[in-house]
Formats: sequence, structure tokens, C-alpha cells
Amino acid sequence: MTTAYQIFIDGQWRDGSLGQTIPATNPYDQSVHAQIQVASADDVNEAVHAARRAAPGWASKLPGARAALLNRLADLIEANADRLALLETTDNGKVIRETSNQMGYAARLFRYYASWADKVTGDVVPLDVTDTAGLVVHEPFGVVACITAWNSPVAILCNTMPAALAAGNCVIAKPSEHASATTLEIAKLAEQAGFPAGVFQVVTGAGETGAALTAHRGIDKISFTGSPGVGRAIAAAGAANLKPVCLELGGKSPNIVFDDCDFDRALIGALAGIFGATGQTCIAGSRLLVQRGVYDRMVEGLAARAGQIVMGDPRLRETEMGTAANEPQFAKILSFIEAAKGDGARLVAGGGRAEGPGLDKGFFVQPTIFADVRNDMKVAAEEIFGPVLSIIPFGDEEEAISIANDTPYGLASGVWSQDINRCMRMMRAIKSGVVWVNTYRQAAPQVPFGGMKDSGYGRVRGQAGILEWLQTKTVFIDYSGDRRDPFSMKF
Ligand code: NAD
Repeated sequence: MTTAYQIFIDGQWRDGSLGQTIPATNPYDQSVHAQIQVASADDVNEAVHAARRAAPGWASKLPGARAALLNRLADLIEANADRLALLETTDNGKVIRETSNQMGYAARLFRYYASWADKVTGDVVPLDVTDTAGLVVHEPFGVVACITAWNSPVAILCNTMPAALAAGNCVIAKPSEHASATTLEIAKLAEQAGFPAGVFQVVTGAGETGAALTAHRGIDKISFTGSPGVGRAIAAAGAANLKPVCLELGGKSPNIVFDDCDFDRALIGALAGIFGATGQTCIAGSRLLVQRGVYDRMVEGLAARAGQIVMGDPRLRETEMGTAANEPQFAKILSFIEAAKGDGARLVAGGGRAEGPGLDKGFFVQPTIFADVRNDMKVAAEEIFGPVLSIIPFGDEEEAISIANDTPYGLASGVWSQDINRCMRMMRAIKSGVVWVNTYRQAAPQVPFGGMKDSGYGRVRGQAGILEWLQTKTVFIDYSGDRRDPFSMKF
């Protein structure tokens, strides 16, 4: 059965004005499971106007009332978690064991930010001036555009949506054309929860729809999760209207294993880093830096485990790795594998399309490992967004830091060592927004996440995640009764 999705504007479900649709394809078997509308610039314009109408009412709603709606939506996401997880897996091929977890995590993010709604306090600041009060208050921006990538549509949406709404903003989401279904389902649940019309809206379509949104003067701030190339276009669109942007971009993260690690845990951490989510994750530990003392053992251990990874129908609990999410991504991953072979990297596992029973119709790539990689090879230098690991040997801490930071990216990193002093030095030295010590691919609503360098700027999650959607206003209240000198500024 094919689901015909519509766009959600001003509390109404309707078709896009262009009369065009995009097929939503299941990357496991190439079947079309839904049709997605293409929203035009006119549709986007309507959504922005609806959000602007809704914004004053939403911002002035009592914080407890905003929190109640966020909590209700969290309950609905939880109640529908199995259905949402299955739909997301059907849409992008991510294994059900991860999409199920992500739905629970999304509900937690709504609850976490619901609890922030009445904790956005201001300050009364002592000034060097008599009989004058200095107040600092935080206010929502107004209307936030939230453009997301295809690899984890709900989890990425929920990095921004709950925080922006709790802060009193209206949100217009534009999911990826490759995986829009679950974002539209979240809109249905928001409608069911009772969010007022215009507070949360979804326009679907490809880059043109996103560009119409980011170019619109009625957007007050942009949240973007995607590639650095498009991120630059988004930053330029924000600059044209002098609107701030929060950019969550790609990575080429170093996962660093020292001789003194707990070897078995480090091996699992390396696997989790690159083969979790089929490597289609911004935080993939795609460069594994291994100290020479454990290098051969780690290469052999990883190659052996990679060869046993269970690939197959991502809807089955036993499946460990699913498909590439779409055909362009599949082709891109295979081209990187060929480039690595051409550059002389030593192939120790995988190396091409995965074939076999249950795999033939899907975009399956073998879990692939190259050893003896140089950091300047294409496979180590550029983001692949697939199950391809580059293993790079190093001698000492200094060399590890130098290789780790020799990348334009700065999203995530991992350190595996049982020496706390070394872990502390490494944590300080690596330029990345998150450092995992003796763990990898871990997230929590309570702490911030975001990139350094070409991985972006701005933060989601944690206290920083709500401050991102608030702007600061300063108020002076003069109760002195003085007749001041009008020709000199009062300091
Ligand atoms: P992408 O940049 O191709 O697309 C992202 C979104 O931008 C899509 O919704 C797309 O339709 C839209 N878009 C494209 N052109 C646009 C334009 N000119 N104006 C406005 N919107 C436009 O990225 P992708 O292929 O969907 O996702 C993969 C990338 O996302 C990887 O680089 C990955 O690392 C990154 N990512 C980052 C994070 C993070 O939190 N840092 C999380 C997930 C994915």
C-alpha cells in the first residue's frame, strides 16, 4: 500500500500547489511505499505567514501550558514508537534496533525541554548607577526553519523542535526528500496533541523547497542539519537576510585506540563507530587511529568481526547492518571504496556491494575496512557516510593528536585508554564538539552537541540547546527621578 502524504500548513493537510510528488522508496527492496508532496515557494510563503500569525500567541502562552503540550506529544511518540520506527526503517533502511531506540530518545528530548519551559530565567544585574535597575530577559526569535537530513529524520528534528518550541518559537520543518514520512507523522501527532495551528508545520520537497524557506524574510532563525556544501548555501541565505543560523554538519571523526586500552571494549567501540547505522551517521568514527603495539591485533580482530556482521532486512531485530539509504548514497560509497583501492590502501574486509540471499534488491555495501591508510588519502580525508573504515597507525600521543586534528572537520572523537591522565590530555587536545572516552556514539538530552571547524556552529541539546533559540534583551529602568543632561549618553 502506498501512503499519499500531504503538507501541513496552518493546521491543514493539503497538497502542494505545484501538483508534484516525490516517491518514497524503501532502500531494502526498491518498493515505493509513499508519495511526498513538493511544496512550492508559494506554499512556503503561506507556512511562514501562518507561523508569524501564531508566534505571538505561542510565545505568550504560559510556560506550563507549552510544557503540557510537549509532554503530551512525548506520550504520543512513545505510544506510536513501534509504528514510527518501522516507518523510518522502511524509508531509509536504518536497522529497527536503532530506529526503535531513536523514537524513545525523541520522546525523552520532548520531556527534557518541556521541563525547561518554565526555567528560562532572566537576571537582575547590579549596575554602577544609582536608582537604575538592569534587567536581562530572554525571548524567542519568532519563527524557526528546521531543515534536516535523511539519516535520522526524527532524532534530528527532535534536536531542534522541542527546544525551539519550549523557548516559545514556531517551527517550520523541511525534512529530506529522501526520508520525509516520519516527520509528517510527527506533525500528525502534534496535531493530535493539540498544538495550535501554525506552531508546528511541515513543508516537504527537495533543495528548492528548503531554499525558498531559508530565503524568506519572515524566518527569524535557521536550524540546518546536513552536508557542509549545503550548509554553506544555508549560511549565505541567512547572511542575505542577516538571520542567524545553527549548522550541524558532517564529520570525519577520529576514534583513537592506545596500547593501554581495554582491548575488547575498544574493538566493540571501533565497530560501533563505523558500522552502527551502516556508517551513515555524522558522528561515524571513520578514521580509526591505532597505536602500533595493538595495531595488528586490532586490524585482525576488526576484520574478523566485520565479516560476521549480519546484513539483511533492516526490519528484523537480528539484522546488524541495513542498506545505504538511497541510490546516490550507495553509488557514492562504492566510488570511495574504489578510490581507496586505487590509492593503495590495504583492503582487509569487504570492499564492494554485498550480495546473497535477501540482499539482492537492496543497496547493501559490505562492511569495509582499509588498513595502513594515510590520513591524506581520499578515503580518510573526505566524509563518505557509509560503512567504510580507514585504519591509520600511530606511534605516540603527539602523533595521534596531530593526525586526529588534521581534518577540516571537528564533530566527534573517541579515545580508548585506561590512563586517566592521557585521557584528560587527549580530551583537551582534540578539536571536536564531542569527545567520547572509553565509549563511542553516545548521546543524552542533558548535554550539548554540535561541531567545531567545518562541522558547523551552534549547539543542540542541554541548556545550550534552549539558549540557541532565545535572544537576549536588556532593560534599564530609571527610578531616580533625575533631570539628566540630554546631550551626553548616560553611563
Ligand atoms: P544535504 O546537505 O544534501 O541535505 C540536507 C537537507 O538540506 C535536505 O533536507 C535537503 O533537501 C536540504 N537542501 C538541499 N539543498 C538546499 C538548499 N540550497 N537550501 C536549503 N535546503 C537545502 O545532506 P544529506 O545528504 O541529507 O545528509 C547527509 C549529511 O548530513 C552528512 O554530511 C552528515 O554528516 C550530515 N549530518 C549531520 C548531523 C549533525 O548533527 N551534525 C546529523 C546528521 C547528518
